[in-house]
Amino acid sequence: MSEERSLNFIEEIVEADIAAGKHDGRVLTRFPPEPNGYLHIGHAKSICLNFGLAQKYNGKTNLRFDDTNPVKEDVEYVDSIKEDVKWLGFEWANEFYASDYFDKLYDFAVELIKKGFAYVDDSTAEEIAAQKGTPTEPGTGNEYRNRSVEENLRLFAEMKDGKYPDGAKVLRAKIDLASPNMLLRDPLMYRIKHAHHHRTGDKWCIYPMYDFAHGQSDAIEEITHSICTLEFVPHRALYDLFIERLNLFPSKQYEFARLNLNYTVMSKRKLLQLVEDGFVDGWDDPRMPTISGLRRRGYTPASIREFCERIGVAKRENMIDVGLLEFCIREDLNKTAWRRMAVLDPVKLIIDNYPEGQTDIFSGENNPEVEGGDGSREFPFGRELWIERDDFMEEPTKKYFRLGIGLMVRLKNAYIIKGESIVKDADGNITEIHCSYIPESKSGNDTSGINVKGTIHWVSVEHAKTAEVRLYDRLFKVEDPSNEDGDFKDYINPDSLQVIKTAYIEPDLVNAVAGTPVQFMRKGYFTLDKNATADKLVFNRTVTLKDGWVKK
Ligand code: ATP
Ligand code: MG
Repeated sequence: MSEERSLNFIEEIVEADIAAGKHDGRVLTRFPPEPNGYLHIGHAKSICLNFGLAQKYNGKTNLRFDDTNPVKEDVEYVDSIKEDVKWLGFEWANEFYASDYFDKLYDFAVELIKKGFAYVDDSTAEEIAAQKGTPTEPGTGNEYRNRSVEENLRLFAEMKDGKYPDGAKVLRAKIDLASPNMLLRDPLMYRIKHAHHHRTGDKWCIYPMYDFAHGQSDAIEEITHSICTLEFVPHRALYDLFIERLNLFPSKQYEFARLNLNYTVMSKRKLLQLVEDGFVDGWDDPRMPTISGLRRRGYTPASIREFCERIGVAKRENMIDVGLLEFCIREDLNKTAWRRMAVLDPVKLIIDNYPEGQTDIFSGENNPEVEGGDGSREFPFGRELWIERDDFMEEPTKKYFRLGIGLMVRLKNAYIIKGESIVKDADGNITEIHCSYIPESKSGNDTSGINVKGTIHWVSVEHAKTAEVRLYDRLFKVEDPSNEDGDFKDYINPDSLQVIKTAYIEPDLVNAVAGTPVQFMRKGYFTLDKNATADKLVFNRTVTLKDGWVKK
């Protein structure tokens, strides 16, 4: 972690508040997801920021489900959000729900009506929109705006009691129909929605709008720093005004730029479409930018936290290259992943001068990057091996340092071999490569005096296990699919998933555990898929060893 970085602008605000003794130096943040989808990497940024501030300044963070819209919300989402926040390594002080405050919010609304600050409006949504005016023209009031407090109290109570159908009436704040800030032109506070809520059931048929629920929830919890993304800047005046008119705890809102990542989409609405339309295998498909997708792909919490730290906290929107995320996971896995051999595109290699039926046991380090080593494992070697098809070239080019007829290469942790001949099938495909080995060239005890430039990996045919291997590429062909003409789904990369049905892996890999990283030497970092079984091993490629992406 980059410990010595300068303070970001929110840390500066928090430090100034602490120095001024505001709230006795107390810091309480909240992470307020709406449980209408799975969390994505953008949420991870918000989580790291909110929980990170609390950790740094000896404060706390509440997890608050912003569940004021009954139709789109679900317990499945609540559970996944809790799992993801925990997995990222954070602990919340309290688990709250905006719906726990429905009674209080209702009382607040009644209080505002009594103060003459709210009224029941019977207009349709279209009428209200038309009466709002435009940024250059003030809005016009209507007869409902002059309703008496008594009438408003009665109508609002009737709305709550279910006397009216959806859309028949709304409760609006009485503010300023000429305000240059359109959100202050008598915004809605409550609407009627006869819908079952995942927590409050059928108790309510009126639900508070975001602007009336969020700030008041913050104030109820006595949140000191309410951090959200830039699109809420125009909402801040309303946030402050409700708190002032209700004389509540003075929570304050601060805005930062949301994280945008290229080659993906990040709105839950769009991610839901990808899931529902079957473009991906669920919310946790390893190509999804969701936390659960990244987890299944083999990303570690530390790599995601490091990524969020590196991108910093910006005041202006920008687009972050997914290459940075990949860099962070590579750095992390390089230090932790055990090295293993797996052949993804196999061709058979036969060592003609190696005794038939003989097996040697060789060993290799688990991770040479770890200082002092990280142990080693053994693997068998025999006369027939699987090697990668592209590690052999029939007519080698000048700088080709791998196997060819007459060319020598080292088999990793084993011997130097020399290509002798090939066998092809009727279609001209190579089915066997024959070679000879140099017995004196054994790794660790090489007295052959031969220097070769290349080393290739291999797996013994007799001892190899098989696995399915899934190679992932970017989900979209273009950097910003949401900003292209037409539907964002038109820009899905058709080659984002390549499935290798039968790869050969060294025997020790049957011990792989989902979530534990492994490096397939020269091929990338992988992890066992969560749905793999002992009978069917499936590995997901987390990331290649090098950044090999070429713009198409
Ligand atoms: P989406 O637009 O993806 O549906 P949202 O903002 O509606 O996201 P919420 O559940 O309301 O999702 O968000 C919870 C918190 O996460 C909010 O404080 C929100 O500002 C923050 N957040 C959401 N997306 C991002 C992002 N891309 N970068 C940073 N913070 C984000
Ligand atoms: Mg939202």
